[in-house]
Amino acid sequence: MYSRKVNLFIALFTFHFSFFTFHFQLSAQTKYSARIEKLMSGMTLEEKVGQMTELTIDMISVGGGPYNITEPLTIDPVKLEKVVNKYQVGSVLNVGTSAHTPERWQEIITDIQKAAQKNRLKIPVLYGIDAIHGASYTRGSTLYPQPLAVASTRDVALAQELASITAYECRASGIPWNFSPAMDLCKVPVWPRTWESFGEDVVLNTVFGSAMIKGYQGNGVGEKYNVLACMKHFTGYGAPTTGKDRTTGEISERSLREYYLPQYEEAIKNGALTVMVNSGAFNGMPAHANKFLLTDILKGEMKFSGFTVSDWEDVKYLYSRHKIAKTYKDAVMLAVNAGIDMCMVPTDFEFSDNLVALVKEGKVSMSRIDDAVRRILYVKERVGLFDKPQAPRSDYPKFGSAEFAAKSKLAASESLILLKNEKSTLPLPKEARALVIGPTANSMRSLIGGWSNTWQGDNVNTVFADNNTVQEAIKAKVGAAHCTYLEGANFEKLTNAADAQPLAKSDAYDYIILCLGENSYTETPGTISDITLDAHQLELAKQLAQTGKPIILVLLEGRPRLITQIEPLCTAIVLGFLPGPQGGDAIADVLYGDFNPSGKLPLSYSKFPNSFVPYDHAVLDSGFDGFPTGDNAYYNPLFEFGHGLSFSSFEYKNLTVGDIIGSTTKVITVDVSNTSKRDGVEVVELYTSQDYASVIPNAKRLKAFKRVALKAGETQKVEFTLTPKDLSIINAQNKRVTESGDYKVMVGKLKQAFKI
Ligand code: BGC
Repeated sequence: MYSRKVNLFIALFTFHFSFFTFHFQLSAQTKYSARIEKLMSGMTLEEKVGQMTELTIDMISVGGGPYNITEPLTIDPVKLEKVVNKYQVGSVLNVGTSAHTPERWQEIITDIQKAAQKNRLKIPVLYGIDAIHGASYTRGSTLYPQPLAVASTRDVALAQELASITAYECRASGIPWNFSPAMDLCKVPVWPRTWESFGEDVVLNTVFGSAMIKGYQGNGVGEKYNVLACMKHFTGYGAPTTGKDRTTGEISERSLREYYLPQYEEAIKNGALTVMVNSGAFNGMPAHANKFLLTDILKGEMKFSGFTVSDWEDVKYLYSRHKIAKTYKDAVMLAVNAGIDMCMVPTDFEFSDNLVALVKEGKVSMSRIDDAVRRILYVKERVGLFDKPQAPRSDYPKFGSAEFAAKSKLAASESLILLKNEKSTLPLPKEARALVIGPTANSMRSLIGGWSNTWQGDNVNTVFADNNTVQEAIKAKVGAAHCTYLEGANFEKLTNAADAQPLAKSDAYDYIILCLGENSYTETPGTISDITLDAHQLELAKQLAQTGKPIILVLLEGRPRLITQIEPLCTAIVLGFLPGPQGGDAIADVLYGDFNPSGKLPLSYSKFPNSFVPYDHAVLDSGFDGFPTGDNAYYNPLFEFGHGLSFSSFEYKNLTVGDIIGSTTKVITVDVSNTSKRDGVEVVELYTSQDYASVIPNAKRLKAFKRVALKAGETQKVEFTLTPKDLSIINAQNKRVTESGDYKVMVGKLKQAFKI
């Protein structure tokens, strides 16, 4: 037997992350400004606790209290006085019931800041919002594809541009803090927050997470077109064992370091200054009480110099849900002592009262409070809150502009994934007659998803009525004479499906464009117990298949709902992971050949509900000894991570692994040719594997990718570099190491061995 002891040695390169970035030098030993030190020296305990408190806008709004405000939202001066002047809260968040105009936002935030100026210390309030795919809570803003769709584009530069549009439009609304990006590596795709992440891979979450942070924060979080990013949800939120939202998982320290920390390390390196904590729990410990995670790793090892913010009500939940504290007060003690700096309370004053009492009782130290408050003031200063009052609305002429909408359209187009295209059925001829049918055919909610105008995105059918749904976009492109729309089914049941069969069978139609998938949802309300696509939707597909007409399946969904029963019935499949308000037009462009698709799956599309295996599984989970085979094979997705077709065809040749340059970098080249008659974009992905390792190696790991535009017939040499760090793994001692030995690099279907 191969002995790892003989053949491997822990090499050369042990990576400690502390060398990463200059921000790290700022952390524990951060030299704070004279202003911050002056404020700190004069602050009372109550004022400090105020800074650590974040409340929802409902708490300052006219109405019957949280979740029950009077529309249109109006600030209640008595409540404002209590929140901002009596409790002196450091931060306010959220929107009320639905989006406001930028002008209204400016007024709301000005009112809050004016109240803060009446306080003895005049510390401005930090306003935070969820703007995860555009300034979603501002009316008339530019929304674009959801993060999972952005990852499907593999277009990192575009992701950064999209984030900078969000920043611009948030600031136009006077909002300086955005609770995004979510970098929750998603191991359980039934989880309802799958679409808020960049998929199942570490590199995708790392690269896209950091690109969004760069887009949000630009060349300085204090500049008027930039906002403060908030990476979330630290960490392991995307791996609940149950697949249900806000439940428990098991993450070994090795897995934590291998899969759930690198995206945050890189984000911190790219200037992330706030982090929201995982609402779930792992290894029996809610993240909000996990001192090892929040203090030892994040603030210690990773030298994070910004502040942590709890997720919504999660401190209280340590008591009321997680049951690791007997009282709310104990919960506050656990959370703050674990390293929570700001608490998104967000609907009571008990957090603040409890924390003041805990300090007086000596259960939370003054130094912990001081550390939290210094971090918060440091970030407020970096955001420019003290020096640069919000810029006027007139400074933002590009808000909601055609220029921004064009970027959203481009992203929507690039995000679409052509999963299947038998006999080159797509693109369809424009003169073809199509029957467009299904619950997502006429739904903006299925294109846009949650965090859109409202939390659940439940009014976008009305708000975005001027944008085209799929059936409207098809009609706009090919004319009503070439397209008939029939609902067939809604999200609950078949509706007029019975009419469809005879209609589809008739000579009036050449193709069926069947639009299936999901309605919009966000967070826990999106929980499901079966990832299989709804039975009545599958039934609609089966009934239509009996007509014998070619079925083009358009899937619009936030997670990979299983379609195994109907996939063989479909000639072509186009998938959109919530491509946004321009998604209908983008889909019509792909269906009729006005856009050549290039999107790639950011996660594995499983075939069976009990066979969820991510592409980067341990090699043992690929199967062994040649059986079982077929459907019961260990690793057997319907469509693999990275899959995505084009109307062009591409060929890979001459994969070479070059010499080590400067003793650290390997250069890998490959020739990629467009062998078709159509210009296209190919996403070239580079994977590696380690033949033998000190822990079970991964089947393969994505290391890098490039989008390459190739004219018909063109060949380009594509170059990648690999450093020892790129090849490093976390070993059984939880240390990052690069092990010497035999490796493989894989690009397309090509494979090349190399040693280090
Ligand atoms: C979500 C966060 C979000 C926060 C504030 C929570 O329920 O988990 O992602 O940022 O609410 O809206």
